[in-house]
Parts: sequence; C-alpha cells; structure tokens
Amino acid sequence: MSDPSTLRHFIDGEPSEPAAGEYFTSTNPATGEELYRAARGDAADIDRAMTAAHRAFEDPHWRNLSQTRRGRLLRRLGDLIAENAEELARAETLDNGKLLREMRGQLATLPEYYHYYAGLADKIHGDVVPTSDRRVLNYTTREPLGVVGAITPWNSPLTLTAGKLAPALCAGNTVVLKPSEYTSASVLKLAGLALEAGFPPGVVNVVTGFGTEAGQALVDHPLLAKISFTGSTATGSRIASATAGRFIGSTLELGGKSPNIVFDDADIPNAAMGVVAGIFAAAGQTCIAGSRVFAHRSVYDELLDRVCERAKSIRIGDPLDDATELGPLAFTAQRDKVAGYVDLGRSEGARVLTGGNATDAGLGGCFYEPTVLVDVDNSMRVVREEIFGPVVAIMPFDTEDEVVHLANDTDYGLAAGVWTQNLSRAHRVAARLDAGTVWVNTYRAMSPMSPRQGFKSSGTGVEHGTEAVKEYTRLKSVWINTSEEPVADPFVMRS
Ligand code: NDP
Repeated sequence: MSDPSTLRHFIDGEPSEPAAGEYFTSTNPATGEELYRAARGDAADIDRAMTAAHRAFEDPHWRNLSQTRRGRLLRRLGDLIAENAEELARAETLDNGKLLREMRGQLATLPEYYHYYAGLADKIHGDVVPTSDRRVLNYTTREPLGVVGAITPWNSPLTLTAGKLAPALCAGNTVVLKPSEYTSASVLKLAGLALEAGFPPGVVNVVTGFGTEAGQALVDHPLLAKISFTGSTATGSRIASATAGRFIGSTLELGGKSPNIVFDDADIPNAAMGVVAGIFAAAGQTCIAGSRVFAHRSVYDELLDRVCERAKSIRIGDPLDDATELGPLAFTAQRDKVAGYVDLGRSEGARVLTGGNATDAGLGGCFYEPTVLVDVDNSMRVVREEIFGPVVAIMPFDTEDEVVHLANDTDYGLAAGVWTQNLSRAHRVAARLDAGTVWVNTYRAMSPMSPRQGFKSSGTGVEHGTEAVKEYTRLKSVWINTSEEPVADPFVMRS
C-alpha cells in the first residue's frame, strides 16, 4: 500500500521512487501545517523521465497515431479534468493558498484548453508552395520536435501547465513536466489523468523537486528538444543562456510590472474595480498584476479613495472559506520578500496609504495586507521591480504622451490596462503600449484561444491560440522533381 501523504514522480506511466530516496515536505501556507512529502528529483530521475519520454516519442503507438485520435485523447483528458475539478482545485488551494473560489474558477476553464487543442490536432499541416519552377513540387510539413521540457511556477500550476502541455501533445510531442516544488500535487494528479485518458506511458511524465536540481537537470539533458518555461525573468534568462548554445528552442513566459492607466474620461468606479482586480486578486501573485497604476491628475484623488476603501475592506482569511477575498502568499519567503519591498519603498520615500503589514490572520499563515503606495515614481525599485504580492504603486499623470512614456519606461512588457471611454484614445494608446497584452476597460481577461506573448524582459515565444502549436513543431520543406527530363549538368551554362 502506498502512503497517500508521500508523492512520487510519475515516469513512464507509473509512480516512481526518487533515485536517491530523498523527499521534501510541502506545507499549507494558510496554516503552516505539513501537507505531504514529495520526491526530491535529481539528474538521475530526470534522465529516467527523459529516456521514457524519448522512447515514447519513437514508439509507433504514439508516433503513428492519427492526428484525429490524438485530438480525441486531448478531449478525453479535458473531460477527466472536468470530472475531477473539485479535487484538483482543493489540491491547488492547499498547496499555494489561493482562494478555493478562484481555483474552482480556473478548473472550470481548464478543460477548455484541452478541448481547444483537441480541435486543432487534425488541423496541423503544411502547405504546397508555388515556386517558380513548375516541374518541381515543393511542400512543407510540420513535425513534432521530440521531448519537450515544461517548467512551471506555483501560482496557477494547472493553468500554466495546460498552456504548455496541451499544444505540445497536440503537435505530437512527449513531455517531461517539472512543477514548482511548492505545488507538486495537482500536476501529479494530472499526469495520472493523462494515462487514464489513453495517452501511452511515457508521453506525460512528472519529476517533482527543486529548480536548481531537477529543473536544471531537465534544461541540461541531451534529449531535450525544447524548453517551455514560466517563472521569473532571472531564471528564464539562465535557461535561455543554457539552451541557446545548443540551439534548443524556448518559450519563456516571465515576469511583469504592468501599468494600469486611468484616463480622465474613464468610468471611475469601474476603473477602481479594475485596479483592485488587477493587483489584489490572487494576492497579487500573478505575472500580469497591474502593479503600477497611473491616474490622470484630475481623477487621481477619487480613484485613490475608491481603491483604498475597497483595499481596506478586503476580507483576509482561510482560502478554503467562500467568504475570504484574500488568501496567504504561497510561502513564508514570498511573504518576507513582499514585506521587504514595502520597507524598501518606505525608505525610498513612498507613503503607505493603506496596508503595509504582514499578518498571520489568526491562522498561523503567511498573509500580507492589501497595500497602496503613493508618493512614488519610476525611479524607485518598488516601481521598477516585480514584487509578486498585493502591493500597488499609484501615480498621477497629466498628458497622454507622458503616460505612454511612463508606462513603457520599464524592463518588462507583459500586459497593460487602459481605462477610457474615448474609442480613438483606446486604440491609439493600445497601439503605443509596449506590452504583449493590452486590456481596455477590463483587466485579467484570458482565453486558451487568444495568443499571448511577453515583450522585452517578459519573455519570448507565444502561448495559447493556434500560434502556440507552431512553437511545438518544426517546419520541413520537401522538393520533388516531377519531370522526366535528365538532370542538367551544373557546369553547362543554360540559356
Ligand atoms: P522561479 O523562476 O523561481 O521558478 C519557476 C520554476 O522554475 C519553478 O518550477 C522553479 O523550481 C524552476 N527553477 C528555478 N531555478 C531553476 C533553474 N536554475 N533551472 C530550471 N528550473 C528552475 O519563479 P517562481 O516560482 O518564483 O514564480 C514566480 C515568477 O513567475 C514571477 O516572476 C512571475 O512573474 C512569473 N510568472 C510568469 C507568468 C507568465 O505567464 N508570464 C505566469 C505566472 C508567473 P523551484 O520552485 O523548485 O525553484
């Protein structure tokens, strides 16, 4: 009998002991209680997973499976996720402290990722290319790459995994997943569901453990055909360097410091809600957090009042409780990082208008109050660096040109929000913002159908939509001479 509080890797279709016999402990950030032990993966475990994935990739059972049948497996996996949604949502909340309400919402959407790529699986094909020589038939094909490595952070484990796994499988690859060590449980469960859906053993593998051990070994493995990574810009940069020299493709979804711009012609109550949603939802632990707010000077005070009022009333507590609006940060070090940034802001001259304190919410967990900083500008580290917590900096501006400049004055380029009722301005500003996603009069909208890409230090490559599948294929150009004519001597001048 296996001990349910001990999680093993999932390699070649079955739970697998770590080679070194090492485990680490995962705790509930809302209470500090121990949840389970998970296998601490190392290079030997990664090697077994990569070898299994490579064997599965070469196996005709997978390689020769028709694209329609591949699509059917993805559809079935989506259905199984829907059937197990409650268990998966709870596993994520226990691991990362995000509200159960929110994780249930994410799980309700998650099957759509697999269903969307199920529909695309039999629509991957090349083209016939009309070259100038009519005796030659030139066509292209799109081939899978091989073994894809996918490394994900802790904030939305299954949703971020879906953005990689679904298109990778859709294109016919096999995959080794390395989830954050803070959130192993739901991804392991997903791998079991993939097997149940009918994906052959070895097509979906999971090695749990630490980034510097299992993650690094995955990136360095010689059988790796592509790496798809979501996480911090610092780690993404290290991964890009490690893979570029081997000419291995990478899709990197990295950090952000997204501007949320409120013009004087905006609907201010709506804009205030958009600002609150942009930064305090998920306790600010989202890459797309609208952490820099620019409000036109004529509406600055009103916006500030509304945001602060709502921030003060946000109910902090147990993420399993439906009444809770803000859960803990995912682990103590993350809470300490957020607290450190607010202290740094104070020392840089920022004023804390509301929040600014760590709390255990009476539960023993690692919470941080929704925090509004003012008297800040683009030169301060709290405005330039990603905090990844419920901390927003709100600044006034006077003109459209000025705010576009301020919004773009950042190393990041992941997302941006614009609040205005002026249609021309909405399009004009959206075009001028240096961000891969721009929302107008909304914030945080996302769909598996809509491609997204980070600009600048926010990453490279596209996730979601039809574009994402191309990231998991390679293009081959085939030339067929259809003529019966003798092949010309290359050294004889042709007329
Ligand atoms: P990290 O970059 O620290 O970690 C991300 C993943 O990479 C984890 O699985 C981690 O493992 C692993 N990892 C760490 N070091 C290495 C390494 N040397 N080689 C290979 N893998 C490694 O980010 P966080 O987990 O702290 O996640 C937060 C970050 O993710 C934020 O910056 C946020 O902006 C970004 N993010 C981006 C999103 C996007 O779509 N653009 C969406 C969500 C988050 P371990 O956990 O063991 O360290």
